[in-house]
Parts: sequence; structure tokens; C-alpha cells
Amino acid sequence: MKIKCDKCENVMDVPGYCIGAQVKCVKCSALLNLNGRDFEKLVAKEDDCTGFALAILSFFIPLVGFIMGAIFISKPEKHNQDIGASCLIGAVLGIVLCFFAYFVLLCMM
Ligand SMILES: [Zn+2]
Repeated sequence: MKIKCDKCENVMDVPGYCIGAQVKCVKCSALLNLNGRDFEKLVAKEDDCTGFALAILSFFIPLVGFIMGAIFISKPEKHNQDIGASCLIGAVLGIVLCFFAYFVLLCMM
């Protein structure tokens, strides 16, 4: 799992069995306590790549992107709204590129 150093923001890969132990940051050598509350704070958000994956999906299937974008953007959490926004941007880009490719094809004929 990913652990984020609270001193230098360095994100490291830490094996699951390290929970309950202390981990030394490879960058600034700070000791990170992996117990309880501190642990929850230190665990980096894993779903950062979910937003990226959804944006890519929206790019190729704009209709899905618009639906998912609307769902995520209507949620109260800022994090989900960001995912929704990237879905909508991906969908719009996909449509624009589709039209662009269509006109390029027309010009070539
Ligand atoms: Zn560090």
C-alpha cells in the first residue's frame, strides 16, 4: 500500500505487514508511525488513478463520461466532484476529436 510522508510529501510503497510498525521515509529519513489515527492520515488516496482511468474511459465513450460526470459532480465531496469534472473534460475532448477526425476524413475524400 501507499504511504505518504507527512514531512516531505514523499509517497512510498510499504508492504502491508508494516502496519503497526514504524517506517522510515526513504527521502527525508523521518520516522512514520503506522499506528491508528496517524496511519489513516498517512495512507495516500489510492483512487487518484480512478479519476484518471474514468477520464480515459470518458474520452473513448463520451456518453458514459457525461453520465458518470453528472453523477460524480452532484456528490458533495470535493474529491468526487474533481473526478466528475475530469470525466466531463474527457468526454468533451473525445467528441471534439471525433468531429475533427470526421472533417479530416471528409477533406481527404
Ligand atoms: Zn519524508
